[in-house]
Amino acid sequence: MNERDSEAVASLLRARGYALVEDEAQADIVLLNTCSVRDLAEQKAMGKAAHLNKRKRRNPRFIVGILGCMAQNRGADLLDRLPDLDLVVGTQKFHRVPDHLDNLVASLRGQGPRPATLIDLDAEAGSQNEIRGHVSTESEPQVSAYISIMQGCNMHCTFCIVPKTRGEERSRPLDDIVREAEELVAHGTREITLLGQIVTSYGRREFPMVGGKTPFVQLLERLHALPQLHRLRFTSPHPGGFKADLIAAHRDLPKLGEYAHLPLQSGSDRILRAMNRPYTRDSYRRLIDQLRAAQPKIWLSTDIIVGFPGETDEDFAATRDLFREIGFEMAYLFKYSTRTGTPAAEMPDQVPAEIAEARHRELMAILEKRSLARHQELVGTTEEVLAQEPARRPAGRLMGRTRGYRKVFFDAPAHRLGELLPLRITRATVAALEGELV
Ligand code: SAM
Repeated sequence: MNERDSEAVASLLRARGYALVEDEAQADIVLLNTCSVRDLAEQKAMGKAAHLNKRKRRNPRFIVGILGCMAQNRGADLLDRLPDLDLVVGTQKFHRVPDHLDNLVASLRGQGPRPATLIDLDAEAGSQNEIRGHVSTESEPQVSAYISIMQGCNMHCTFCIVPKTRGEERSRPLDDIVREAEELVAHGTREITLLGQIVTSYGRREFPMVGGKTPFVQLLERLHALPQLHRLRFTSPHPGGFKADLIAAHRDLPKLGEYAHLPLQSGSDRILRAMNRPYTRDSYRRLIDQLRAAQPKIWLSTDIIVGFPGETDEDFAATRDLFREIGFEMAYLFKYSTRTGTPAAEMPDQVPAEIAEARHRELMAILEKRSLARHQELVGTTEEVLAQEPARRPAGRLMGRTRGYRKVFFDAPAHRLGELLPLRITRATVAALEGELV
């Protein structure tokens, strides 16, 4: 989501006459778009901003800004540690960045003292509709692109800072999203990933059900019908949003591929309740069974948090056993990070870091074993791969994704980018596959 927000800001800035540079060292302005989901992300952004601010000694016109969740979360308090910041812009104000920069640049050209830090953090009605410009439609086509379909979150999981940083759920009109997708596809995009904190909640308060289908599934169907689009993905959903219509979509809409991400967080009912997650290990397991019945070849991914306050050895064992039993091919495994202002931060029995570390390692080992085994099963088979982008290394190779969303590296000329290619899988590692054109 941050990548997408940054891209939308970059697109607005280009339209205003600013140029993107390849190398940060050449930039006159650096804007850091930040994440607050875990403390480490905030600390990294803080360190980076402090380092950048030192450049002002050499270049008094150099501008540094902090955008996004950390700006929203910490606001003017950021200036305690970063007094030299020029700009602090919250998550509902990304589209105001060009105006703010124009003003700053104009004042720095003058002879007066450096202007005070510009802070813009208010809520703004309709801000969800402003994340829509794409740099790719103006220059290089992008095979795989993101579309932000909504902002905010109303779920209030007790560990999570997002409701504070992103505000209430607000969805974009369906027709606007379809128009953005059509434009991208006309410029060569072949895969679209829909983005939202909880995409499955898309439009649930704004738009009606039609034919028993939620607005989110209506949106999927509209986009699925775009002839030149090869793949349609979304992140991230909530298990509670997997109702009959979305499960059927995994059977009926081939462009969804054979892949689903369902954040589990914990396999202990006690911890799920404390997290304010509205499902149980049994209901989650039933959901997985239904998805596998609808789409037997589905590859599954999840999010897990270990070390949530009060998580005992028994709670963790319940998570570990369910994690192993379901056999996820992919997972984002997090150590709980205390977020000031969330209910969990006030809970007793915070888990010591070394215990969380050990639990994390245990899940990681299970995941690696399972991923490798599933990847190895693909060796010798032919997979349909969307050629997505040049591989970083070595030059000349391409990177693509299978229908199950696994990465494949292969040799092919760059003009094949954007095509669905049959690839024979030749090699498997934990993280990726290698293949050759059939
Ligand atoms: N749709 C997702 C869901 O159903 O929860 C929400 C996406 S959330 C922004 C991304 C992931 O970050 C969460 O699923 C959770 O695993 C992790 N996360 C959020 N807050 C966290 C915290 N305080 N400590 C560790 N991980 C956290």
